[in-house]
Amino acid sequence: MSDSEMKRDVNDLVDICHQAQVDNGWWQGVDVFAPFVIPAKLALIHSEVSEALEGDRKDQMDDKLPHRKMVEVELADAVIRIFDLAGAMGMDLGGAMAEKLVFNDSRADHKPANRAKEGGKNY
Ligand SMILES: [Mg+2]
Repeated sequence: MSDSEMKRDVNDLVDICHQAQVDNGWWQGVDVFAPFVIPAKLALIHSEVSEALEGDRKDQMDDKLPHRKMVEVELADAVIRIFDLAGAMGMDLGGAMAEKLVFNDSRADHKPANRAKEGGKNY
């Protein structure tokens, strides 16, 4: 996948996730740039990640999609919320992801040899 394909595909998913939330009324009367809206949305993303942690910690199946692991479904919820917020804020999340993956690949502190050194990143 090229960088431009990643940008396009991720931004398509951002549009799909945000439009679904708009259609369901979650943004009715809400200005994303009003005070505390972005922090509240970020807290909701945190809550999905915390649910994923609990699902993984207890090795639970999801209650709404019982054929799937809870950690998988809650990570999906987190991504949906991230994409929704990015859409509401008019972000080019796909472009940022493509650029950040390239940047991360160039980081010396991410290379296994450097991570294995004294003071290197363990995780
Ligand atoms: Mg959830």
